[in-house]
Amino acid sequence: MPDTRAIRAFLEPHHATLAERVRAFAGDEIATRPDPADDRAARGEARAILAQLGAGSWLQPILDLDLRACSLIREVLGEASPLADAVFALQALGTTPILLGGSPAQKDRWLGPIMRGEVMTAFAMTEPEAGSDVGAIATTARRDGTGYVLDGTKTLISNAGIADLYAVFASTDREKGSKGISCFLVPADTPGLRFVRPQVLSAPHPLGEIAFESCRVPADALLGAEGRGYALGLATLDQLRPTVAAAACGMAARALAESLTHVQRRQQFGKPLAHFQLVQQKLARTATDLTAARLLTYRAAYEKDKGQARITSEAAMAKSFATEMAQRAVDDAVQLIGGRGVLAEHPVERLYRAVRALRIYEGTTEIQQLIIAGELLK
Ligand SMILES: Cc1cc2nc3c(=O)[nH]c(=O)nc-3n(C[C@H](O)[C@H](O)[C@H](O)COP(=O)(O)OP(=O)(O)OC[C@H]3O[C@@H](n4cnc5c(N)ncnc54)[C@H](O)[C@@H]3O)c2cc1C
Repeated sequence: MPDTRAIRAFLEPHHATLAERVRAFAGDEIATRPDPADDRAARGEARAILAQLGAGSWLQPILDLDLRACSLIREVLGEASPLADAVFALQALGTTPILLGGSPAQKDRWLGPIMRGEVMTAFAMTEPEAGSDVGAIATTARRDGTGYVLDGTKTLISNAGIADLYAVFASTDREKGSKGISCFLVPADTPGLRFVRPQVLSAPHPLGEIAFESCRVPADALLGAEGRGYALGLATLDQLRPTVAAAACGMAARALAESLTHVQRRQQFGKPLAHFQLVQQKLARTATDLTAARLLTYRAAYEKDKGQARITSEAAMAKSFATEMAQRAVDDAVQLIGGRGVLAEHPVERLYRAVRALRIYEGTTEIQQLIIAGELLK
């Protein structure tokens, strides 16, 4: 179970119970699943895990906008299986724009099957020429009769090719820049939406490119008002960034646990590695940084749950600090475990491949730093 003592000031009683339950679920039903051998297997696994999460009602905190619960779930899943964490995260990322901007009819149509894990979502924002610079989105949505026609390419999209529903960011008015971006809900089987190719990551994580080629959607595919897409996208990322931080904390906690086990067993120079002070220093640093990261994470989630409208700075601090911390923690674990730590399929080798992307997706560390500085300089 994640150690809830350090963060108890930020939790309600139901969160502590949830932490225990999700830990049991992850141990019994997630950690025991086989590791996918390749990208194709990872895609099948992702769908199977989504069905499990839906059947166990683990997706419900997304609907409840209970950010601390989502963070606890991601922390535990990140520790047990980065792929399972990604499945939860992507369902949250594809659903939050509907929660924040959807009409009652859109919510009625989609939220039930999404929460049951029957409909898998994706968040299609990034483009070949629009990564950190979201305002540069070139996919267009042209008004045509009663609906819109979408044209453009999206790249590095998680769940591309296996999602049932895409939240797509496209420009309805290029002249207005970011204020001309709108968000559309596009079912995967819409004619003109094409899965172009998978983009294979070093860790199991379904990713790929999709294209819109004269893709016609009805007017009621628009989420919120025209031109509100950029704000909706940023609000979604703002809200979910603490959960990325939580996943990073879970991965760091797993790395620390693997290190602790190893250094107490492994003997060199006639003593367990744990006796050496240079080894202890790494353990102490990870434990301290991990605690600091968890405090930043649950502080940000707490503020949002308690009604603070925006947690821009808090979320950016949590995401950048926790993901950078997790990278160091996993790297230290590999170092402490030595040669075995770089062997394929050692738990820390898997973490080493999985943790890297967290410093990039949902806004790079540098972009988080710009956000924090921007808030300071306002
Ligand atoms: C595993 C994974 C999953 C992803 N899933 C999704 C998804 O589901 N949906 C989606 O829409 N996108 C997704 N992405 C894309 C992700 O959001 C982008 O990769 C990210 O926003 C960075 O964009 P970029 O890769 O184009 O890098 P760039 O924006 O080109 O940045 C490259 C480097 O330049 C730095 N940089 C850029 N601008 C500045 C600046 N102003 N000042 C200082 N440094 C700067 C960046 O920090 C980075 O280090 C995913 C990416 C990965 C790796």
